[in-house]
Amino acid sequence: MEFDLIDLIRRRAAGARTDVALGIGDDGALLVPPPGHELAVAIDTLVEGVHFPVASAPADIGWKALAVNLSDLAAMGATPAWALLSLTMPEPDADFVQAFADGFAQLASQHDVALVGGDTTGGPLSVSVCVHGFVPRGQALRRDGARVGDGVYVTGTLGDAAAALRDLDAPERASSVLRQRLDRPVPRVAVGQALRESAHACIDVSDGLLADLAHVCRASGAGADIDADRLPLSEALLAQVDVDAARRFALTGGDDYELCFTASSDAAVSRALAHAGCTATRIGEITADGPVRVLEHGHDITPERHGWEHFDA
Ligand code: ADP
Ligand code: MG
Repeated sequence: MEFDLIDLIRRRAAGARTDVALGIGDDGALLVPPPGHELAVAIDTLVEGVHFPVASAPADIGWKALAVNLSDLAAMGATPAWALLSLTMPEPDADFVQAFADGFAQLASQHDVALVGGDTTGGPLSVSVCVHGFVPRGQALRRDGARVGDGVYVTGTLGDAAAALRDLDAPERASSVLRQRLDRPVPRVAVGQALRESAHACIDVSDGLLADLAHVCRASGAGADIDADRLPLSEALLAQVDVDAARRFALTGGDDYELCFTASSDAAVSRALAHAGCTATRIGEITADGPVRVLEHGHDITPERHGWEHFDA
């Protein structure tokens, strides 16, 4: 049964790349990295009821499991190539696996990602994906490169997924546009690669803007001032909640998978993103002293809680 399921996954999601010398089916995969590049590697686990709502559509789970990982590669400025998938589920459910693999493959094919191996076991539903990508040697985007005076930028809009999460148990009020942002995040892969020359530091916003920007500041030995009026908020979000709530979602809500980066010049950022299919908004500045502050007309309105932490009391 396990092998039937693996075969279902292989037929739907293996993909085809010439740098996969040996894919699914042996004890390990054999892969051929391109010369002159570093391998960027990341892994993320999604647990039902924690990282995706109970009874999510299986195709959405497959998409999101890959998306959150591609988002990490995007934040490194890497070009995705290979993935491994560890799938734990309560029953050997072929319908679930087919739909899951289709959702995974839908995103994988957009980025030419080959699924080269994995593991399939029984237990409470959880999914781990490990991804590999390439970056020209020495050119990866890291968290520790922010410089005092840099602008702080974010792609797209923030807070949509957090608002959808709030409305999970109120379907009569929920917005399908926001729910799509929660279930089918779009990793900013092209943006990350386009920013390799102009950005000084980069992170993807998975736990909440303030929490994630604080990681950049800590790694860089700096602080940041964010201007609350400049936070990019979607029309869908503002149709659902008032502007104060929208800002709170944008600052502390997780699951956005936008990129937050720092750079010294607006012009360089606009040039870099001209063909990346996504805009970025300058929301503040890197300062000499930490921590991260949020300012509204010069007043400090920094919320106490910065974002999502898994081991909060
Ligand atoms: P082993 O016992 O040697 O670890 P498995 O029986 O677990 O091998 O897996 C057989 C093959 O199928 C291996 O190549 C493995 O990488 C692949 N595989 C198993 N589960 C998955 C999965 N969920 N997704 C992709 N490949 C998988
Ligand atoms: Mg195994």
